[in-house]
Amino acid sequence: MTPAHTEAPAPPVLVLDHLTRRYGSLTAVDDVSLRLPAGARHAVIGPNGAGKTTLLNLIAGTDRPDRGTIALNGTDITRTATAKRSRLGIARSFQQPSVISELTVLDNVVLAGWPHHPKRRGAWRSPSRYRLHEESAAGHLETVGLADLAHRPAATLSHGQRRMLDLAAALAGGPRLLLLDEPAAGLTDGDIGRLLAILSGLPDSVAVILVEHHVEVVAQLATSVTVLAAGRVLVTGPTAEALAHPEVRDAYHTAGAASGAAPAVIGPSPTDARG
Ligand code: ATP
Repeated sequence: MTPAHTEAPAPPVLVLDHLTRRYGSLTAVDDVSLRLPAGARHAVIGPNGAGKTTLLNLIAGTDRPDRGTIALNGTDITRTATAKRSRLGIARSFQQPSVISELTVLDNVVLAGWPHHPKRRGAWRSPSRYRLHEESAAGHLETVGLADLAHRPAATLSHGQRRMLDLAAALAGGPRLLLLDEPAAGLTDGDIGRLLAILSGLPDSVAVILVEHHVEVVAQLATSVTVLAAGRVLVTGPTAEALAHPEVRDAYHTAGAASGAAPAVIGPSPTDARG
């Protein structure tokens, strides 16, 4: 009989182990552990000041933990610089879209993808190489529905369009882990629908961590949820279970809590859309 051939399981895309970040006497992220499989669609939710953005900062490397470790695809990156984490496959979009207004929409994506492109050397003086960068950037603009606006200055975009451009720029590096900080903040219902369609269409090779106050976005995109309160994990689990957890409902100021209806917005009031 031939011995069964067993392949080693893929390592989790991200492992956070007892991650802690203090600012003076305030513990913004308090002993957070999390294990995400490749292709995860994970949401981090919680009231204002719960530590969600700090957690993303720690994963992206723009902030450092006082305690605990972070591993990406089995490699410890706790002390790895932000730029190297980006090369290792962590991309981020921000609460305020990070778009260069003076550049065209296309050039914003070319620039974001440049450090990750296999043909980056000398591309600035080789028209044929530069065209490869433009072609791949154009593909990302197509994905986010901005292809028609490629040659416009980014300054002329609406808030919703700037968010889509920020997302295209994040995708330009071919990320394995995409960190999205309140992608639906300040978007119209139509833009939220477009965002949901784009994010739902991302390939399984990209894991997503989403910080989001809109519960419908969380419910539609995330298969698992971590709820933070005062920096600590209140609950982590499948989305429906986590959202239904009694302590979760108690912990939030929610518009629908009094009536028992599902909240439309978790955390801030519905008018708190920033940006
Ligand atoms: P929101 O939903 O309002 O964006 P959040 O859950 O993302 O909130 P954080 O922005 O991570 O919360 O902040 C967590 C806590 O840490 C807050 O009390 C905040 O004031 C504090 N904090 C965050 N960054 C710093 C900093 N650089 N220095 C001092 N305190 C900070």
